[in-house]
Amino acid sequence: MSDELKMTMPVPASASHFVVADVFGRPLRSLRLSVTDRCNLRCSYCMPEADYVWLPREDVLTLEEMARLTGYFTDLGVDRVRLTGGEPLLRRGLSGLVRLLRQNRRVTDIALTTNGILLADYAEELYEAGLHRITVSLDTLRPERFHQLTRHDEFARVIEGIESVARAGFTGLKLDTVAIRGFNDDELVDLIEFGKQVQAEVRFIEYMDVGGANEWSQEKVFSRAEILTLLSGYYGAIEPMPERGAAPAQQFLLSDGTIFGIIPSTTTPFCATCDRSRVTADGMWYRCLYATSGTDLRKSFRAGASDEEMRAMIQAGWEGRRDRGAEERKALERDGLRVGGLIGIEKLREDPHLEMHARGG
Ligand code: SAM
Ligand code: SF4
Ligand code: SF4
Repeated sequence: MSDELKMTMPVPASASHFVVADVFGRPLRSLRLSVTDRCNLRCSYCMPEADYVWLPREDVLTLEEMARLTGYFTDLGVDRVRLTGGEPLLRRGLSGLVRLLRQNRRVTDIALTTNGILLADYAEELYEAGLHRITVSLDTLRPERFHQLTRHDEFARVIEGIESVARAGFTGLKLDTVAIRGFNDDELVDLIEFGKQVQAEVRFIEYMDVGGANEWSQEKVFSRAEILTLLSGYYGAIEPMPERGAAPAQQFLLSDGTIFGIIPSTTTPFCATCDRSRVTADGMWYRCLYATSGTDLRKSFRAGASDEEMRAMIQAGWEGRRDRGAEERKALERDGLRVGGLIGIEKLREDPHLEMHARGG
């Protein structure tokens, strides 16, 4: 075992809820369900290319299939589900999926990650369907920068979307910002101040090299240490909050009581406690954000595999899991074996599942 990946003990399963653990003792607790690979933005760090190979429509799971697949995961320990994409609000009937998931008693938390453009149209409906929490991705407060980053003039609709969340009844809004050197590193204070206005916790994500067509370079990573130095220069002392198990965001407290988060995926990977699985819109299952191969659940499911067979396949897959992608990438850097993006565009065109927008971030 890697000396960087410390053995963690499986979370004890309650009598009624079996929790499967991987080779390093990491439990299976959380599922990121990508409901579509399509998106209405073209963020430079995620979808910078002019055209993409999309998942074939007939392969994309119906919402009922997604809910049934989720059921196998919840039988094996999952209790938190995050709906993502592509842009999940482009998927018609998304609130119907939320309703189906709410019928599963083992799901205690259903969250949504969205770019916010369509949120004002759907916030109320999603709240009524039983969605628990919303995270909106917001990288800048300047409309011209928003356009430069995303190639679309949708800034005003995103802000409207953010404002609609509380009106619909939600609490606990989060705003996720990818911190990029030379792009938005001069807006971190403004984003925290905006978060205060809309009662949202702002979380800064370190720029990750996911897929390959993401314009990533080491120089663009604005690290946790740099974020903290910058913010303490403005706000004064910053207190770290107690760690929260497998949660990727480390929380910090400002002297006025404001909480913000940092997700230091690149400089301080959290693979040792990672309990996340990802299922793409066409039913490919990945045990790591960086995994280059996965399990085709759709194929078995549509070929008529029984519930027991589906569960056994997922259980065996998780029990054999050794993934620790971010740690491995960091080790490559440490050893000087890393120069730029790890997966070239040709390979991405051959297998679109390797793209961040296919596997949901
Ligand atoms: N379209 C939705 C959105 O943007 O919120 C959901 C899918 S998006 C792939 C999920 C998250 O991944 C977003 O918060 C986005 O900022 C993040 N993301 C995408 N590419 C990234 C990268 N290269 N580094 C860090 N975060 C990234
Ligand atoms: Fe941007 Fe999300 Fe679309 Fe990727 S999936 S291009 S992060 S809005
Ligand atoms: Fe989990 Fe893979 Fe991310 Fe590490 S790199 S935290 S194992 S998803």
